[in-house]
Amino acid sequence: MKAIRVNQTGGPEVLSYEEIPTPSPAAGQALVKIEASGVNFIDIYFRTGLYKHEPPFTNGQEGAGVVEAVGEGVTDLQPGDRVAYTGVPGSYAEYAVVPAARLVKLPDSVSSKMGAAVMLQGMTVHYLTHSTFPLMPGHTCLVHAAAGGIGLILVQVAKMRGAQVIGTCSTAEKAEKVKAAGADHVILYTEQDFVAETKAITHGRGVDVAYDSVGKTTWEGSMNCLRPRGMLVLFGNASGPVPPIDPLMLSQKGSIFVTRPTLVHHIADRQELEDRARDVLGWVGQGRIQVHIGQEYPLAEAAQAQIDLAGRKTTGKLLLIP
Ligand code: NDP
Repeated sequence: MKAIRVNQTGGPEVLSYEEIPTPSPAAGQALVKIEASGVNFIDIYFRTGLYKHEPPFTNGQEGAGVVEAVGEGVTDLQPGDRVAYTGVPGSYAEYAVVPAARLVKLPDSVSSKMGAAVMLQGMTVHYLTHSTFPLMPGHTCLVHAAAGGIGLILVQVAKMRGAQVIGTCSTAEKAEKVKAAGADHVILYTEQDFVAETKAITHGRGVDVAYDSVGKTTWEGSMNCLRPRGMLVLFGNASGPVPPIDPLMLSQKGSIFVTRPTLVHHIADRQELEDRARDVLGWVGQGRIQVHIGQEYPLAEAAQAQIDLAGRKTTGKLLLIP
């Protein structure tokens, strides 16, 4: 089968399109014929070595397709089932072996492309808005990179929860997409001072929560946008990692809270995975959220997809099609 291998960490040029043996499912696993693989920023962190995974490995953490075969002891899945998953390395490939306990069956109303598009980003948005800071009517949230894969879903779900949403993004074209997703206000943080704008929009009060996946270039401004006792949810490093934070700073900025969550700890339990996946796939299937697929690439062009994502050229979700 074809796969995108990382034989050493580095730039996009290390992504190697290779022929490797098709794996067989061991006990408790299923072999999935991948119909679409989601491209995520986390794939770039693993490729560069910011997040650790000893090479060689197949890149990619999210896929959807059809069960081809199951290993011993797998009773709740059978060949032909349509499934999706995230959090298991190796989805940039024609086939992947995945623990059955990590697979979720796709309802008829959700295509494989949609499944591959929402498992990681949709469930991330779910825990951010329902668990990390449960949004409610009356809350105001700041969403950075609001035209991105996570961003466009986060804006819609925050509105669904009844919150006021302030989105940031880099271009007027992206701002149109953020507005169309339902944001109440959009700030071009490449041209405007997002702290001053956020303070003006909230009449000096500040936001209840700032969802910040941009990191290095925004984290401090995000803190300055918070109301007293507000929460900064740092959940990514698109512009680079955030330096160590002095706890005293949290008191000086208004007894604020800072958290640095990650998806894996919010779907580790099978029941939690099923609950979040059911909600997210339900929103998609019922048309309660629109998932914007910005671009599809052939599997062999994974490097170009990552170059475009890191280069801030994309909106919404990117998919690789084997
Ligand atoms: P996006 O589609 O959001 O792409 C990243 C966006 O970040 C860009 O489009 C760009 O938007 C913005 N950005 C700002 N500064 C930079 C920069 N210097 N370089 C590159 N991009 C920049 O990606 P994803 O939706 O895949 O992921 C968004 C973030 O969420 C990532 O940081 C990712 O790691 C994180 N994440 C965290 C998870 C968790 O559980 N903790 C799970 C999933 C994702 P603009 O041009 O508008 O500024």
